[in-house]
Amino acid sequence: MKTKARRYFSDGTNSPKKSNPAFNVSFGSRPQASVDPRASVTPIQRALLPFSIDQNVFPETFVETIRDPEDSQHLLFLQWQRGEVTVVPHLEQGRKIYVPPETKSSAVAELRLPDRILPCGDSLDLLAELRSEISKFIDLSEDDLLLVSVFVLSSWFPDCLKAVPYLWLVGPLGSGKTTLLRLLHCLCRRALIIGDLRGASLYKSGLLYPTLLLDEFEPDHSRMGDEVLRLLRAGSTPGVPTARNGQLYSTFGHKVISSRQPPIDTALASRALLIRLLPTRKDVLPLDTAAMGRVAKAFQPKLLMFRLKSHSSVRQFRIPFGDMEDLTPRMADLANGMAAPLLGDAVSKAKLLTVLREHDRDARIERCLEPEWLVVEALFDLSHQGAATNRMISDMLVGGVSAYVNKTMVSRGEDLRFSARGVGGVLKGLGIPTRRLGNLGRGFSFTSVVKRKIHELARQFGFDRRDLATLSGLEVGYGGTPCALCEAFGLTGGLRFADLERESQRHLLSSQRRPLFDETEMQ
Ligand SMILES: [Zn+2]
Repeated sequence: MKTKARRYFSDGTNSPKKSNPAFNVSFGSRPQASVDPRASVTPIQRALLPFSIDQNVFPETFVETIRDPEDSQHLLFLQWQRGEVTVVPHLEQGRKIYVPPETKSSAVAELRLPDRILPCGDSLDLLAELRSEISKFIDLSEDDLLLVSVFVLSSWFPDCLKAVPYLWLVGPLGSGKTTLLRLLHCLCRRALIIGDLRGASLYKSGLLYPTLLLDEFEPDHSRMGDEVLRLLRAGSTPGVPTARNGQLYSTFGHKVISSRQPPIDTALASRALLIRLLPTRKDVLPLDTAAMGRVAKAFQPKLLMFRLKSHSSVRQFRIPFGDMEDLTPRMADLANGMAAPLLGDAVSKAKLLTVLREHDRDARIERCLEPEWLVVEALFDLSHQGAATNRMISDMLVGGVSAYVNKTMVSRGEDLRFSARGVGGVLKGLGIPTRRLGNLGRGFSFTSVVKRKIHELARQFGFDRRDLATLSGLEVGYGGTPCALCEAFGLTGGLRFADLERESQRHLLSSQRRPLFDETEMQ
């Protein structure tokens, strides 16, 4: 990569590691405006350069956008190459020249960015420092303190994760939700507090890959509420851009949502870790603007260092599958996203998994009693059954769906049962009309329109192909027979698919389930 670093740091400070053991980049020779990048090379691209520059051409080179320590309204690039740090006003790559975005836009102006880099300890040290700092300002249980601290670390590695966690802060007024949100604004990577929840501002913020902090979010069923929910649902996995006015936006990134009530939306609930806050009588420090400034100043430079130092190990980190067998696929993703920055710290990882297991159990109990959730789960599975053997189900009785749902309830040890009539009502509510199928009763056909609708519902409710895959399949990342609609709706869950002809074991499995709704029974 060609940079003008030497010109700007001709006194030798272009390698701050050597000149300053604190990695504290000296701006003794501030960048002179002698070269106007806009004048010489085209095209110019304004970018925060969120992630690494082309890793194939420049291995182990990372560029982070930082604030100029002498003028916070001015942004610079911090370049990291195998531990060497340089700070430059712009970067050239090929025929392109990159300059940081202007801070005129309010989103960039309010985005939390470090203004330097400082030495940090390992993940264990950082975790301990974060826990101690957070507990100065807010009264959290030990478990929640762990979750929040690990979330902060995780927010520095969105580009290493297959799925990012959300935190959902619930509590009455005066419970400290806002304090925690403001604290996270000081600690998370590129944190941005959004109070104005109009979809547009959220989409724009997506261009900055921030850790989005939504204050006082009260989901309702207004158009705007629905749009925000859709955006939040799409933003936990990379590569699922949302279309808006003909443009694609990425909403991927860690998010914290503060609300008076828990998520009403199951898809969202499955992406979020619930933190319940209550008013406290414990003596905590007030988090005023000065305190916020101090916390950010102390932690942002260290966390930036931790990100750059640990990036490749975090990217490669996976929790062994055997440690997560009992978690739902969604929670297993969350667990990986949270545990990755802990790297080899077995004790914290084990503690974290214990807490997540509890969250998973609570969420599962709440979800699995919701008829809509159960019916969508059933439809999503049924619409794929027989694909491996080319014996797809064509017609479906409502009674077949309720039988499927009830079988699921039995397998989960729940006493609740659903009647065909009840399920018929749920189907209607979900927008899947039923009709008489001869003299067999009411039902519907798996037409292409209905299948599309089912995939849309699956996305809304937070299902993907991991929910249908067998455990042995999940372990090797294999999801079964490919499905064009799953691809189109982003429901592949990162699995691989193959068109195996009449794979005997799978056939056996599906034939065990088939008698409930086999199309041969419908004829
Ligand atoms: Zn599908």
